[in-house]
Amino acid sequence: MSGTGKLTVFFGCMFAGKTTSLIKYISEQNFRQNEFLVLKPSVDIRSGKATITTHDGKSHDCIIYSNELDIFEHVTPFTKLIAIDEAQFFDKVFFSDLKRLMGRGIQVVAAGLDKDYLGRPFGLMSSLLEIATERVHLKAKCQCCGKDAEYTYRKTDNKVLILIGQDNHYEARCESCYKGA
Ligand SMILES: [Zn+2]
Repeated sequence: MSGTGKLTVFFGCMFAGKTTSLIKYISEQNFRQNEFLVLKPSVDIRSGKATITTHDGKSHDCIIYSNELDIFEHVTPFTKLIAIDEAQFFDKVFFSDLKRLMGRGIQVVAAGLDKDYLGRPFGLMSSLLEIATERVHLKAKCQCCGKDAEYTYRKTDNKVLILIGQDNHYEARCESCYKGA
């Protein structure tokens, strides 16, 4: 045991720059390639390939997360940081594994949507925010009025909750434009 690893959470609505902030954060840590893991959920089909490119131009393979994933198979004695994108899609089992890893001193950074398009808490995000040592609320620009946006507004009637990879169905909106819709 080497104390508790810190947990930084970037949260906000769509188009708020969460993934960009996550990548910037990873880049700033200057860890070697074998010292950090990046996880993305399998539902995130947007990029097609599972790599991220850090700001020094190096690309890094992502681990595709599904609820069958055993994170302990990927963690090595060298692992110092676990980065999670689209963290709202990770489950409670993963969350308790993450807490165990933090107990070993591993640092965690997560980025995700804090609210779904109905304004409800989204998946694992509230649990992560609860235990976060640093919370960074990112805001987009409201696509109606240009003010700071905290809500994701869905423009279509499609009732399927997970409709990602189709950003054109969503808009960032401020509270009054979201509620006045
Ligand atoms: Zn607005």
